[in-house]
Amino acid sequence: MDYPDRFDVIVIGGGHAGTEAALAAARMGCQTLLLSHNIETLGQMSCNPAIGGIGKSHLVKEIDALGGAMALATDQGGIQFRTLNSRKGPAVRATRAQADRVRYKAAIRYILENQPNLSIFAQSADDLIVEGDTVRGVLTQGGIRFMAETVVLCTGTFLGGVIHIGMQHHSGGRSGDPAANALAARLREQPLRVARLKTGTPPRLDARTVDFSKLAEQPGDTPRPVMSYMGRREMHPDQVSCFIAHTNERTHDIIRANLDRSPMYSGVIESTGPRYCPSIEDKIHRFADKQSHQIFIEPEGLDTHELYPNGISTSLPFDVQLDVVRSIEGLERTHIVRPGYAIEYDFFDPRDLKHSLETKVIHNLWFAGQINGTTGYEEAAAQGLLAGLNAARRVKGQEAWWPRRDEAYIGVMVDDLIRMGTQEPYRMFTSRAEYRLLLREDNADLRLTETGRQLGLVDDQRYDAFQQKRDAIETERKRLDHVWIQPGSDAARGLADRVGALSREHRLSDLLRRPELTYDDIAPLAEGAPEDPLVREQVQIQAKYQGYIDRQSEEIEKLRRHESTRLPEELEYDRIDGLSSEIRQKLKAARPETLAEAGRIPGVTPAAISMLLIHLKKRS
Ligand code: FAD
Repeated sequence: MDYPDRFDVIVIGGGHAGTEAALAAARMGCQTLLLSHNIETLGQMSCNPAIGGIGKSHLVKEIDALGGAMALATDQGGIQFRTLNSRKGPAVRATRAQADRVRYKAAIRYILENQPNLSIFAQSADDLIVEGDTVRGVLTQGGIRFMAETVVLCTGTFLGGVIHIGMQHHSGGRSGDPAANALAARLREQPLRVARLKTGTPPRLDARTVDFSKLAEQPGDTPRPVMSYMGRREMHPDQVSCFIAHTNERTHDIIRANLDRSPMYSGVIESTGPRYCPSIEDKIHRFADKQSHQIFIEPEGLDTHELYPNGISTSLPFDVQLDVVRSIEGLERTHIVRPGYAIEYDFFDPRDLKHSLETKVIHNLWFAGQINGTTGYEEAAAQGLLAGLNAARRVKGQEAWWPRRDEAYIGVMVDDLIRMGTQEPYRMFTSRAEYRLLLREDNADLRLTETGRQLGLVDDQRYDAFQQKRDAIETERKRLDHVWIQPGSDAARGLADRVGALSREHRLSDLLRRPELTYDDIAPLAEGAPEDPLVREQVQIQAKYQGYIDRQSEEIEKLRRHESTRLPEELEYDRIDGLSSEIRQKLKAARPETLAEAGRIPGVTPAAISMLLIHLKKRS
């Protein structure tokens, strides 16, 4: 049958990409349908119950700054919060939350069900309705035709998914869920480059059978960080500890003795897995000299005994999984609740997408999430938001929007994917961002919320809170610029043990730049310091890093100014320092006429453009 209502945007898949895509389109006023296999699995975490971490929390905070749901759901579902890299610089600091799987999912579902303009329908999408080169709608397994102006595909690991446990394998999208085979077959008929990737997950353990006295406890941080700019600690449920266990020589012997029963090592699985989240058999093989690997034993929730042993993802047969687990100190009597497994799935080469994530070959069709070769909830959610936003902009007759590499990690990720594609599951790292001093997790709101408001993604409540914070930061910066500390004053004497006696008067802002002093030292020297810890933190970071931040901003400006700079025809790329041989090859083959043209060659990075610029300067 034809469904009687026509939608502006249909989003297929209610995982992390799909939920943010649907919410973004609906927030922008588009009539949106979220079509997913099962309402109970909306927002489900397929693998580890954790959100954030290095590079990833930057994405979560950017999604949040643009009005998305992930950070707020994390604050409502998070059962342990930590600040990673807290002793390092603010650019690489990251927030990580262990999440209660059920509470997180419930929070996402609540947000979805209460979003105006958003309808949900639970059924498999089996086919796209395509006329000429334009998508017109979706056909479900039950024969319902939903028509729409735009479609966003967020099908995760489900397209042609095959699950492996030892030598046994079967079709599945993830454990307990069906694969999307009809849709996969249909998509393979399109002129899009398609390949296979794989990922895996560890067996889950019953906490009642673990001897915690033999494991090291790892509590959350105090003070406890919060994920969302709109979040508060009071939203967090009860907090729990994680624990640390270790593999040993026996564990490694068991794995080595059974590698021939591993689908990865016997040639059954040929596709590439996530390099930075390897299976335990991969780790034993690749780091053969290491005698022990750390395993984080993470609770899956407050109302369950299930534990997630982070670090022993495996597709070995179940009997080997049990031996591996029981060889570990503290887990000698442990019961496995669910076996670990690997999954292979179809992904589409993201070089066939535009920066807006619309496909180049089918008009009005967007791809977001694991389908584009990425791994991780955060990477998926960030793409979902961007795709949903751009589908809505198309409906409204507006130009596509995406952030630049110097504006957001979302911009870095999309630019990396679209220019270079990926041969292995792509995950975010701070090292991927050349302007990471500007793209900190603490300032994602200052970078993006104003734009998000103009795009129609940010509601009044968030915008008001943002404006108050931005104004408070500005007021405090001005106060620090206007208050002078006189030599010999009480205030100066109070600082003398750290900076010595002042020889002349100093502004508070100058004193704050000194490495020996923190904001907490100088703020109380005059009346009027703000209470809000986030405002105080922001003022401190901006003051301490101003020099570096200015330099990075100048670099970006310089690159923009030089985009039309001509590249001489006789330029010898082999003689340019610092270029990788891959980039040299590409430049030699393409012979771009300007720096801007060079920058558009897939795989030529902004860092390479910077080196070209330096070389041209030296030549002139
Ligand atoms: P998903 O979260 O997979 O959501 C897809 C959604 O689409 C589901 O709700 C599904 O029901 C729905 N759907 C699919 N096809 C259809 C259809 N035809 N019709 C209707 N609905 C459909 N990430 C890491 O960062 N580290 C890891 O170690 C890791 N391990 C993983 C291990 C396993 C076994 C799996 C399955 C995933 C793992 N991931 C890991 C990846 C992580 O789960 C994904 O990156 C993330 O969930 C992707 O989000 P997504 O929205 O793209 O897709």
